[in-house]
Amino acid sequence: MTVLTRIKGGRIVDPATRRDQIDDIWIRDERIADPPDGGIRADYTYDAGGKIVMAGGIDIHSHIAGFNVNTARLLLPELHRGSVPRPVDTPLSTAGWSTFETGCRYAAMGFTTVVEPAVPPSFALHAHLELADIPIIDKASLAVLGNDDFLLSLLRTSQGSAIIRDYVAWTLESTRSLGIKVINAGGAVAFKANARQFSLDDIVPHYGVTSRTILKSLQFAVQELGVPHPLHVHCNNLGLPGNVETAIETIAAADGLPMHLAHLQFYGYGREGERGFSSAAPVLAEAVNKATNMTVDVGQVMFGQTVTVSLDVLRQFNSRDQAQPRKWLIFDGDAEGAGVVPYNYRANNFYNAVQWAVGLELFLLIEDPSRVFFTTDHPNGAPFTTYPEIFALLMDAELRAQWIAKLPANAMAVTSLASIKREYSLGEIATMTRAAPAQLLGLKDRGHLRTGAIADVAVYDDDRDRARMFRAAALVFKNGELVARNGQVIRYRWGRALKVSPNYDRDIERRMRTYYEERYGLASDLMKVPQHAIPRPEPFESVPCR
Ligand SMILES: [Zn+2]
Repeated sequence: MTVLTRIKGGRIVDPATRRDQIDDIWIRDERIADPPDGGIRADYTYDAGGKIVMAGGIDIHSHIAGFNVNTARLLLPELHRGSVPRPVDTPLSTAGWSTFETGCRYAAMGFTTVVEPAVPPSFALHAHLELADIPIIDKASLAVLGNDDFLLSLLRTSQGSAIIRDYVAWTLESTRSLGIKVINAGGAVAFKANARQFSLDDIVPHYGVTSRTILKSLQFAVQELGVPHPLHVHCNNLGLPGNVETAIETIAAADGLPMHLAHLQFYGYGREGERGFSSAAPVLAEAVNKATNMTVDVGQVMFGQTVTVSLDVLRQFNSRDQAQPRKWLIFDGDAEGAGVVPYNYRANNFYNAVQWAVGLELFLLIEDPSRVFFTTDHPNGAPFTTYPEIFALLMDAELRAQWIAKLPANAMAVTSLASIKREYSLGEIATMTRAAPAQLLGLKDRGHLRTGAIADVAVYDDDRDRARMFRAAALVFKNGELVARNGQVIRYRWGRALKVSPNYDRDIERRMRTYYEERYGLASDLMKVPQHAIPRPEPFESVPCR
């Protein structure tokens, strides 16, 4: 039995089809459909008069599952919601929620696809089990390489690009990932040899290869395999004054080939001013504007309590003294390691105020909204529930001015934020959160409202208070089914995990078996996520490679 749904008379904001007009959206079962022939009536009609209709939102970088996220929950039980309702200003009331709530809160804001960007291959099964526990939204994960002994050994002995390509493809398939991420390439290995800083041309101890070599070899492999999402890069020197140079060197190292830089805000720092810490966002934005091969996401900081979770073990170790509350966890793993450091961004803190401004400057100074993506690096810059507040800041220069007036003047003086008048339009917001992320990830069936697309649709009240508007979507459809109304989830369903399966020479499987057996006494199956592990009818969905 076909079900025909009509979303009637809303303002369709759909940049992928260049539409901004009052019209109907028709849904036949799970897909967007053409309007039916005259006389055929919808089974369900929803009046969207005076409302905004967009495709479901897509978040390309949000830490929502895996051992690091779960460890943060275990480290900070006092911050998690108990059986008694807590006031919202309780520390981590906005960051400590369960997998279940993660899906509900995303859906309430009209987001329907989210990427968990940091899964070490040996923890892929854990991550997928948690992702499967998140209702409503579709999910995807990025597998992390770049500090692993197998890759670094291949590079040390110059074994050529074909074997690296096969290894990357094997990793993607075994871990059921949508792409590859590299985190401070070689930095975690250097940390094991007591390094406290590690830059692009530093040499990884014992392996004799530079961070740059690791980065380039992975970028090349991902490109050659035809994986739609380019290499997703967490650069060296995160958070350090003057690290804008690292970001600009990395952009140059990309050499005109596609590359994605994650949470760029954390690399937008200069050394100007009396405290030796300033915004370098204008020069960084300029570098991004010129390099049309590059995409970035911001990692906006918002004020309040959160917890930082990162596989950049070197960086997390260095920041452990800033933990608030005063406890932290550093994990020295097989390859990446990890760190969990709770943190409280304060509006009256000079450094935090500069960070807040740097993120907004990047959003506003990078001209093309299809190359700058909307993230807080949840929960590292802020919980994803702060997105509505950030949309409002991007869309309203006057609102930004009110905030700037409240923040430390010496901090605002080392940024350019006050001078920027740009205001994002609804179309630009939709580009940044719908059309562009779908394209970046190779998800042709979403991010737009074309006939045949998955019927992931978010309908918002056209409220002048943009934060209120984006916080509680009026209607949210997932695969054509109404799942949320006025910011409340009304129906639960299970999403899928999106993955790629590139072609490769199967001889690598034999090699991986031998390697794991000889090196660790383990089966290489350790990395594999079997279909039957996820107790859902269709837990995975393949995204084609080029
Ligand atoms: Zn991240």
